[in-house]
Amino acid sequence: MISTNDIRRSFLDYFAEHGHEKVPSAPLVPHNDPTLMFVNAGMVPFKNVFTGVEKRPYSTATSAQKCVRAGGKHNDLDNVGYTARHHTFFEMLGNFSFGDYFKDRAIELSWNLLTKEWGIDASRLLVTIYHDDDQAAEIWKRVAGLPDEKIIRINSSDNFWTMGDDGPCGPCSEIFYDHGDHIPGGPPGSPDEDGDRFIEIWNLVFMQYVQEGGKIVGDLPRPSIDTGMGLERIAALLQGKHDNYDTDTFRALIEESAALTGVDPDSAFKASHRVIADHLRSSGFLVADGVLPANEGRGYVLRRIMRRAMRHAHLLGAKQPLMHRMVPALVAEMGGAYPDLLRAQSLIEATLLQEETRFRQTLDKGLKLLDEATTGMAKGDTLPGATAFKLYDTYGFPYDLTEDALRSQGLTVDRAGFDAAMAEQKAAARAAWKGSGEKASDDLWFDLADELGSTEFTGYTSSEGEGQV
Ligand code: ATP
Ligand code: MG
Ligand code: MG
Ligand code: MG
Repeated sequence: MISTNDIRRSFLDYFAEHGHEKVPSAPLVPHNDPTLMFVNAGMVPFKNVFTGVEKRPYSTATSAQKCVRAGGKHNDLDNVGYTARHHTFFEMLGNFSFGDYFKDRAIELSWNLLTKEWGIDASRLLVTIYHDDDQAAEIWKRVAGLPDEKIIRINSSDNFWTMGDDGPCGPCSEIFYDHGDHIPGGPPGSPDEDGDRFIEIWNLVFMQYVQEGGKIVGDLPRPSIDTGMGLERIAALLQGKHDNYDTDTFRALIEESAALTGVDPDSAFKASHRVIADHLRSSGFLVADGVLPANEGRGYVLRRIMRRAMRHAHLLGAKQPLMHRMVPALVAEMGGAYPDLLRAQSLIEATLLQEETRFRQTLDKGLKLLDEATTGMAKGDTLPGATAFKLYDTYGFPYDLTEDALRSQGLTVDRAGFDAAMAEQKAAARAAWKGSGEKASDDLWFDLADELGSTEFTGYTSSEGEGQV
């Protein structure tokens, strides 16, 4: 069986053999885009190369890029543990052409890698194209011999890629693998396409137009290619599995959490093991790239991820902090490909231990409160926003953690009520502030505090004895 580490290598070697420059993964915190929380696709570090702002000594490249999709436009946090194919942290394998080859070559390279190099059964593959992209349809027929019914035309933004409102854009074509009719889910474009039977493995983006203000204004002078394939998804396929969480890397992490908690990995607690494995990866890689848990911004996304994992560790009956003890297994799996992870091992362990020690001080009490508040509730009921706010403010429960905790019982949270309670607390803090007597400067202070979010957590930071971050 080919390992995930070997698949990464095999992908990069294949494209290097075809003239692509191997480019190492950029850090998860984007240095060229303040509007983006984390790098969420392989093309992000190349944005300025595609627009022509930045020049590189090569015109084609390949990379395995670390990605996090746990905030902002792409947020897969709620999918983790529940679908076979989503992670908060994953690696995107990609090949890129900066005005070098275009559609023909891109399709040919991807098809040959999948079916010739890796020997994937071609009869199980199907593709989507943007509805009017006749050129792509013609190439798929010619290069791959796909029949019309396996070239599905999609008329939605899913198959048209843009870089915001201005800049390069164009149709894309996604490659799917049919795992078989024993798994629920319909083909792309069908009403039940979100099932896990047809799994999207690779997205080929054909950048060929230029947009201004959301409208196509002409052709891109040098059409370009950006592709992205999830390493974990292709690993599942090549290892004969349907589910990413059954691949070698994930299995090693899940078995570690099973060994440390004594809870069978395939029991009713399966989802908890999966969440822990997934969140361990995102937490570890984020800390290695310099993000630390905090009450706002990127650090708050990390804190949310960590605390969600910690609640699941609690569900598995862990009496002591667990997450830091899983780090050696993570480093054993991924430290070879990512020496930064190995270098940061002790920082990752210390950060997880500190966060879990703190959170455990309030977690039990918070869960008790949640239990009491939901006694007598039935599937479809809604937790009052004020209760979710108390959990957030007093017990350090991020809003989405409460949601996650209620999910298995089919309960939801009143978001509007939560927001109202938050606004009320802010207003009360403002009113209680006697201030310096200079209204203008006080207003300025509160505006700034609102903007930076530093007042959001005064409740629980004081009860936890944490300093402001
Ligand atoms: P999906 O529809 O399954 O959510 P996507 O269309 O959002 O995937 P893209 O943005 O096209 O994904 O990203 C390119 C590739 O990256 C996908 O084809 C998939 O293989 C992989 N990928 C995307 N999101 C995730 C994730 N959360 N976890 C693991 N792999 C992912
Ligand atoms: Mg998605
Ligand atoms: Mg998709
Ligand atoms: Mg896609």
